[in-house]
Amino acid sequence: MTVSESAAEAELEVEAELLAGLESGVTTAGAPEERFDVEAPFRGTKIGDLPACGPDDVEVAFERARQGQEAWERRSVAERAEVFKRYHDLVIENCEELLDIVQLESGKARRHAYEEVLDVAMTARHYAYRAEDYLESEEREGALPGLTETEVHHHPVGVVGMITPWNYPLSLAVSDAIPALLAGNSVVIKPAEQTSYTALKAIELLREAGLPRDVFRVVTGHGKVIGEPLVAESDFVCFTGSTETGRIVASQAGEHLTKCSMELGGKNPGIVCDDADVDRAVEGLIRGCFTNAGQLCISIERLYVHEDVYGQFVEAFVDAIEGLHVGAGYDHDVDVGSLISEEQLEKVTDHVEEAKAQGATVLTGGTARPDLGPYFYEPTVLTDVDESMTLCANETFGPVVAVYEWSDEDDVIERANDSDYGLNASIWTEDHERGREMATQIETGTVNVNEGYAAAWASLDAPMGGMKNSGIGRRHGDEGIMKYTESQTVSVQKHLGMTNPPGVPHWLYAKLMNKTLKIQRHIPGMR
Ligand code: ADP
Repeated sequence: MTVSESAAEAELEVEAELLAGLESGVTTAGAPEERFDVEAPFRGTKIGDLPACGPDDVEVAFERARQGQEAWERRSVAERAEVFKRYHDLVIENCEELLDIVQLESGKARRHAYEEVLDVAMTARHYAYRAEDYLESEEREGALPGLTETEVHHHPVGVVGMITPWNYPLSLAVSDAIPALLAGNSVVIKPAEQTSYTALKAIELLREAGLPRDVFRVVTGHGKVIGEPLVAESDFVCFTGSTETGRIVASQAGEHLTKCSMELGGKNPGIVCDDADVDRAVEGLIRGCFTNAGQLCISIERLYVHEDVYGQFVEAFVDAIEGLHVGAGYDHDVDVGSLISEEQLEKVTDHVEEAKAQGATVLTGGTARPDLGPYFYEPTVLTDVDESMTLCANETFGPVVAVYEWSDEDDVIERANDSDYGLNASIWTEDHERGREMATQIETGTVNVNEGYAAAWASLDAPMGGMKNSGIGRRHGDEGIMKYTESQTVSVQKHLGMTNPPGVPHWLYAKLMNKTLKIQRHIPGMR
């Protein structure tokens, strides 16, 4: 056996150890009839296989989740929060192992996998310490001050069904589940086929932190097979993925009148203003465009650069990109990793090849890198992109950005808004007031000034989500937890009823009420 053969064997052993036992976290009705393969994108080879669950398995998962939810709901919010405080610490303690699994399944660079660990720990911390405030019952003014006592309670919806994608397998499997669980719900999740081991590992740690097994159930397999039964059983559906699949899931939820939130695709614009700090913009937009090889719904795929700094920016941007370390590696020094799959590589290649054929100019990149691994694609910058090209308006979900020049501010805002999507935007200017003012005119759910996406995403007490075809509802902040609750208004009427008092004829009551209404409109506390 050569040295490289024995090294490869040792690597396989380490991988097998990483994944060992995780399958026990999958809920099945009996012995699984079918299985599906999971591969390592760095090599394009199989690393394991998991049950392809069917509708029966979904049914069992929901039965268990409903049983588990009843006891979980009875615990106080403070008691539930303790689990997530422990989870926060466990995620940090298990950071290296989590990074290894995320990288193994997704092929992303370690620095991008680390963003997921950060996100999960910060989300656990945020909601663990804030859930009591968010969920507390509140007193309201009521119909008749002094006579009606009204309060609002926030009950869990029951079982939340989650369908999650492969691009942020750790973060998206648990960060949306944390507020759902803290609100007293249980969760049944179907993670993406490509990255189910990561979800299983993340949920295994939640159990270690004290979450009862039935409160978070996992079914693995194909969305086309188990998506519909999962939606049918759910009391709320939380979906993250493509706009195309989101439409299918939302319409299924609609059939059952089940509430849902959808975080979908984007074709996110970046705007570099004439007064931008060009070096800072270059550094930030490299992260903004190429994090996770561009497989990030909030990454920037359209970049509008002011004519005064266009030449300087483009030269520095291309230079910096050409210095990026692209490759397969488990250390933090790699800047850009692999795409996840053959399918994703084909999509990115098709978009770029079509653009080239229609007259786009490649400033850097524009080719696959099979020398680095089967699905690698170079960070790519294009100019001369026009509407005849698919990538002009459609999400590429790869390391490809089209750069355009602008001169008029109203015009660039119009161009940025000229999209069916509305997820995220990035503005670069040294004048923060100007940035704020431009931001409010952009039709996206988040806008980052002097950052690509991370500032708004990591503002965990503020809502995050999409306008237009980029989604329904929001994650993070109060909206990110209250969506998993049903609010209930309880009013206690004291003394007088809501009609004419005994002995007062209704015509007199109406006259007196009209006078009262006229006065009340002018009293601030009574409007
Ligand atoms: P992609 O095409 O990039 O895989 P999707 O939006 O299709 O993105 O995938 C996101 C999640 O949706 C995955 O867990 C996937 O298995 C699931 N999914 C795919 N098709 C369906 C469907 N018809 N119904 C429900 N879920 C689905």
